Amino acid sequence: MGAAATGKLPMPVKGLGPYDDQNVFARLLRGEIPSRKVFEDDWAVAFHDIAPQAPVHVLVIPKGRYVSLADFTARADEAEIAGFFRAVGTVARQLGLEPPGYRVLTNMGEHAGQEVPHFHIHIFGGRPLGRMLED
Ligand code: AMP
Repeated sequence: MGAAATGKLPMPVKGLGPYDDQNVFARLLRGEIPSRKVFEDDWAVAFHDIAPQAPVHVLVIPKGRYVSLADFTARADEAEIAGFFRAVGTVARQLGLEPPGYRVLTNMGEHAGQEVPHFHIHIFGGRPLGRMLED
C-alpha cells in the first residue's frame, strides 16, 4: 500500500553511499520489475511514476549506480552528466511539455524525503503547478 493510501510518509533514505543493488530502480533497470517506459538512450531511462502527483509525472534515472544527485555530481564523469541532463530535457520535450512548461525536481536525502536510493529526476506537468514548495 502506497503513502497516498496509508496517509503515512515513507521512510526517507540518506542519499549517500553505498549503492544498494536491490533498490527498486536497480531492479527496474535490470528488467526484474515492470515499468511504463517512455524513453531510453545510452545514459538514461525514463518511465511513468507509479503514484503520479500531476497529470504527467515521469522519472528520469541514469543507467549508472548513483544514490542521489550528491553522489552523481561527485562521481559521474562529464559525459555521463551531460548525457543524463540532455536526456531530461529530451524527455520533457517528447512528452509535449515544452510549451506549456513543466517542473523538474530531485529529492536528495532525509530532509527532502528521498525514498528510492537511485538518483532520479521527477518531471511534473500537464497543468499549472502552483507554488514551488508546500508544507
Ligand atoms: P523520491 O521520494 O524522490 O525518492 O521518489 C520516489 C518516487 O518513485 C515516488 O514518486 C514513487 O511513487 C516512485 N516509485 C516507486 N516505485 C516505483 C516503481 N516501481 N515504478 C515507478 N515509480 C516508482
